[in-house]
Amino acid sequence: MAMQENDLLLEVKNLYVDYQAGNGSVHAVRDVNLTLKRGEILGLAGESGCGKSTLAFGIARLLRPPAMITGGEILYHSRPQAERKGEMVAARQDRHASKEEIVDVLELTSSQLRAFRWNELSVVFQSAMNALNPVMTIGTQIIDGIKAHRPDMGAAACQKRAAELLDLVGIAPDRLRSYPHELSGGMRQRAVIAIALALNPELIIMDEPTTALDVVVQREILELISKLCKEFSTALIFITHDLSLLLELADKIAIMYAGAMIEKGTSKDVYLHPRHPYSYGLLHSFPTLTGPRRRMVGIPGSPPDLRMIAQGCPFSERCPLAFDPCRSVTPELLPAVANNPEQTVACHLYNTKYNETVPGEERFAQGYEALAEGRTAR
Ligand code: SF4
Repeated sequence: MAMQENDLLLEVKNLYVDYQAGNGSVHAVRDVNLTLKRGEILGLAGESGCGKSTLAFGIARLLRPPAMITGGEILYHSRPQAERKGEMVAARQDRHASKEEIVDVLELTSSQLRAFRWNELSVVFQSAMNALNPVMTIGTQIIDGIKAHRPDMGAAACQKRAAELLDLVGIAPDRLRSYPHELSGGMRQRAVIAIALALNPELIIMDEPTTALDVVVQREILELISKLCKEFSTALIFITHDLSLLLELADKIAIMYAGAMIEKGTSKDVYLHPRHPYSYGLLHSFPTLTGPRRRMVGIPGSPPDLRMIAQGCPFSERCPLAFDPCRSVTPELLPAVANNPEQTVACHLYNTKYNETVPGEERFAQGYEALAEGRTAR
């Protein structure tokens, strides 16, 4: 879909999320900003514990105590849905012809939230087996979801819609009578995606939806997700620790580290020119199947304790190119290079106040090599 400026769907501004713990708050998400357009696929990547799932669940208002949103704004640009006709394409066309309204997600009441979720935004959780009720058929689970939000829809229409949804995700409609244990792992994940699509949401959040699947099924599911998002102009936030999955699927990639965004850009830019030393390390942690061979690196050490984030760059303890300002000044997300404002990075190496020459990839490679050998790179 060709995206225009007014296609803005979601704005997250200066979002903070803490987990209250007995021995201090864990600052799981810190000052995160992002925007998403209608139909756009954003990949959120980073190591386990970097805050990506907490951020996504914060957007969906699915966090439970001890998690607490302590600051920021989540604005959702909603189109009225009164004209929905039960068919995805028709509903989309009606919606696009209508005027939009900006919803302050953090101000929604419980009943408004219930209406918001699944109508506007749905979530696919990590494990399909856990997301599905083992003692209910797939059909009952899809129909229950539809009925909860469309009480006026008759039984026959619900049944028809459920069959249509299974067909959409590549499962024969007669499987509506199957229980989750009668389906393979890939089919269960497809069924969960069908449930997420049931009410034509504009935005779907998927939290590591393919982690438990083998690589062949994983690829099939990714292709299905990509096809459905394109077909219905559904925006997607896809969370994974596996950056390689995002390179083909996502339009944009945001990389998180220690609760903060450290790099954002188009998939192509991040893949071809990772600007943050951490992004470089992640991208060089797996082998490529195509293109020239490249040296793999590991990122030594582990992320900082999120209860005690010190001043300075949170990656400084592990960074092969850390220098003096990194230990005292926290870097801001800024364009890495002047001719591409879309790719932003939180690293002092790109700030002319601290560093005059933009580092090339060979500096990163040499830096990681030196770290592996116990030498200093700078
Ligand atoms: Fe490394 Fe400094 Fe850049 Fe942080 S700001 S990534 S420590 S060079």
